[in-house]
Amino acid sequence: MGPSRQEIIRVPLGERAYDIVVGRGAIEEAGARIAALGARTVGLVTDGTVADLHAARVSADLEAHGLRVAAVVVPPGEASKSFGQLEAICDALLGAKLERGDVVLALGGGVVGDLAGFAAAILLRGIRLVQAPTTLLAQVDSSVGGKTGINTARGKNLVGAFHQPSLVLADTALLDTLPEREMKAGYAEVAKYGLIGDAGFFRWCEGHWREIFAGGPERDRAVAQSCRAKAAVVVRDEREEGDRALLNLGHTFGHALERAVAYDGARLVHGEAVAIGLALAFRFSSRLGLCPREDAERVAAHLDSVGLPTRIRDVPGAEAFSAADLLAAMGQDKKVKAGELTFILARGIGRSFVARGIDRTEVQAFLDAELA
Ligand code: NAD
Ligand code: MG
Repeated sequence: MGPSRQEIIRVPLGERAYDIVVGRGAIEEAGARIAALGARTVGLVTDGTVADLHAARVSADLEAHGLRVAAVVVPPGEASKSFGQLEAICDALLGAKLERGDVVLALGGGVVGDLAGFAAAILLRGIRLVQAPTTLLAQVDSSVGGKTGINTARGKNLVGAFHQPSLVLADTALLDTLPEREMKAGYAEVAKYGLIGDAGFFRWCEGHWREIFAGGPERDRAVAQSCRAKAAVVVRDEREEGDRALLNLGHTFGHALERAVAYDGARLVHGEAVAIGLALAFRFSSRLGLCPREDAERVAAHLDSVGLPTRIRDVPGAEAFSAADLLAAMGQDKKVKAGELTFILARGIGRSFVARGIDRTEVQAFLDAELA
């Protein structure tokens, strides 16, 4: 359990630079590392499920390092990314006399990370945030990069702030308790990094995904490689003015599908929507003559072998979808500029690019064919 089992990835963002600690046992460094940040009180935010499984051990470690713990537990699930829970967290942490030098520790999946991260961004005009992601999705995606926020009645993630963490502790052993479906969903984002810009990593994933799921050293390697890939993009474009859009590979189609099921996680969770979106982005690229058909087939074949959906018809209730509805749902995306559709397309595996001004009729014809 010593530090030698962890890999440290530096995110070089000037005065906002931070470390991502990846590996089994990384969470056991929470007390020592947060004490080293000079905090006295830790606002520990988690959800009910993670609280039952992992929070007691983390609290005990913080206290063993002389830190006072003020814990806030929110209900598990996307609905907690709300003004109501944000207010409850701010109220509880202010009530516990959190000060400017203290730290908010987000122990949980992307829901807790986004919600607690946003609380940290606005409490006392901003206090430090430590992310301790406990889902694969959070370890490879949401805990890195500084996007925080909540949902409103008008849409997902529409209120929030950029607030980089001071430290990320990605303990891959915590994923041992994660349900299989959540593990697969996070894996779609892992595969995404290969598809965006690293064909060698995608090939490696094709050969090692079973070990990633089983929790061998390959899992640590996949999480570390994903964090490096995300960090590299974030460093180039911290506030999503350009290149960072590449991270949305599979997400334009994916978000439209999530909207089409009204974000009903029983029918479709985010990572599943991304898996279908990845397959669609490659098939669409192939249809436009940008990418070899074999690459599109290889992407779908891999996601399929992992047990992820790759077709719109894989979504329960998809019979009710129409190309026009999906197209309209894409138009609502907050990344839409002046009514133009922006897609992340690919010239091949590992060769994705931002494609602006895509013709709606092309998209409509493609979706009609996919739905047929
Ligand atoms: P989540 O936080 O809801 O976690 C999924 C489920 O797993 C929850 O029920 C949770 O209680 C449970 N869980 C968490 N850790 C567990 C563990 N170790 N063992 C057993 N169960 C565990 O969902 P998520 O998929 O982690 O995150 C989704 C959220 O992330 C969305 O709100 C999305 O908008 C956000 N997100 C943010 C960014 C960003 O850059 N900020 C990027 C991607 C996604
Ligand atoms: Mg995503």
